[in-house]
Amino acid sequence: MGSKFDVVVIGGGPAGYVAAIRAAQNGLSTACIDAWVGSDGEPSLGGTCLNAGCIPSKALLESSELYHRARHDFGNHGIRLGEVGLDLAAMQARKEAIVSKLCGGIQGLFKANQVSSLAGHGRLLPGNKVQFTPRAGEPQLLEADHVILATGSTPTGLGSLPFDGERVVDSAGALAFAAVPRRLGVIGAGVIGLELGSVWRRLGAEVTLLEAMDRFLFMADGQIAREAERQFRRQGLDIHLGAKVQSGERTAGGVRLRYDDRQGSHELEVDQVIVAVGRRPCTGELLDPLAGVALDERGFISVDDHCRTTAANVWAIGDVVRGPMLAHKGSEEGVMVADLVAGRYGHVNYAVIPSVIYTTPEIAWVGRSEEDLKAAGVAYKAGTFNFAASGRARAMDQAAGLVKVLADAVTDEILGVHICGPMAGELISEAVVAMEFQGTAEDLQRTIHAHPTLAEAVHEAALSVDRRAIHAINR
Ligand code: FAD
Ligand code: AMP
Repeated sequence: MGSKFDVVVIGGGPAGYVAAIRAAQNGLSTACIDAWVGSDGEPSLGGTCLNAGCIPSKALLESSELYHRARHDFGNHGIRLGEVGLDLAAMQARKEAIVSKLCGGIQGLFKANQVSSLAGHGRLLPGNKVQFTPRAGEPQLLEADHVILATGSTPTGLGSLPFDGERVVDSAGALAFAAVPRRLGVIGAGVIGLELGSVWRRLGAEVTLLEAMDRFLFMADGQIAREAERQFRRQGLDIHLGAKVQSGERTAGGVRLRYDDRQGSHELEVDQVIVAVGRRPCTGELLDPLAGVALDERGFISVDDHCRTTAANVWAIGDVVRGPMLAHKGSEEGVMVADLVAGRYGHVNYAVIPSVIYTTPEIAWVGRSEEDLKAAGVAYKAGTFNFAASGRARAMDQAAGLVKVLADAVTDEILGVHICGPMAGELISEAVVAMEFQGTAEDLQRTIHAHPTLAEAVHEAALSVDRRAIHAINR
């Protein structure tokens, strides 16, 4: 391996590995430094997303949902089972196997694209030099025309309740429980808290979520959030809103949490607690102070709309920069930067990034919510359609929830689509494509949707924008 590259990427998560592959596709000599070590003690590409985030959480969400449905819902289909048992070790092993297969897949893609994969730690020095410290061995100096920083994020803790990997865990710890907790506390009812709380609730834990905000899922459209909250409470998730955890302490058998709400101060005893109060950018040890890369007031690397940092030819992408902490957002930034570096066109449309929460029902949205539009004084039309009237949703025995389409009152352009319901994360793609093409509600209305599909609910919601839904009474 030489020590001079066109591009050196620091971080091999969905932002960094995608940037590295695209840079190599563009004919640039590329290295990607990544520090992640898997549960087997070996380097493992894919970052948080593949190793401890998107993928293992979705594996457990799928398994736990099947377990729950086998126990509680199969009877609705006329399927009688004997005793349904849980083999958590096998469930965890399946998750591990998926992670290991996909992480190995990235290594294969690096080989095929001739990306030099460097396992170890990267540090940006002045003058576009990178110090690479391998897992074993002496630091080496690399030179690059362009450096892309993609070091991601790590979980934030609560000062008085440090992670101990046993009773007080972060999301990675909560994905690896070897036994189902009896009483599980979850601090923070954001995306991660809800997904992980759902996994362990379905597997039999008593789950209490403490959320500081008064409004459930404040980042989602209010109507959708209310519907989701109703469904989650029905599933037995004990959700406390306006409940700010102030402190916690280990007790002989578990953890005692103290939280404040409008009624006063309370204590909650749990056996284990997941702290899911957010994530912070990974910049420690990454930046030599003389490298000239500035951070913003929240500790993220400062970048412009094209992910240029304050240092020439140094770029930053993914969770380590502003914007939603989502894998696909980081990947698109990776593609943009790798294309710009190669002298091609690159752009990310930050207004059209889908968000998905993989609970049951799923929640997905893109664009602006009704609250956003009201606050901005935009005149809009809204159409909704309930899955209760969808033949496919009924056949699936998953008819809770709705689709909502928001369109500009004057131009009819789609401004936002919000879904709470079965496969919402898949359905939202249609809305993303429509919005990317600046489509109108009428465009969706005149598009043929196969019958019977869940996507018909999107079609009907678009029709409902103009009070022309066929399978609902237009009010
Ligand atoms: P990361 O994935 O964090 O990767 C950064 C990499 O850089 C890591 O491998 C790290 O070890 C390495 N690194 C850090 N510093 C250095 C250094 N100095 N030298 C070398 N290497 C370094 N997002 C979604 O879009 N969909 C989901 O369903 C979803 N589910 C999630 C579930 C959970 C439980 C969690 C925790 C997150 C989830 N996310 C999801 C968020 C998603 O994982 C992140 O947005 C995404 O991983 C960010 O990608 P990244 O490449 O910026 O950083
Ligand atoms: P997210 O940002 O999606 O990861 O969600 C984190 C959630 O944790 C947010 O909804 C925060 O309001 C919530 N949160 C942060 N700190 C606390 C706290 N001390 N007690 C309860 N909830 C918190």
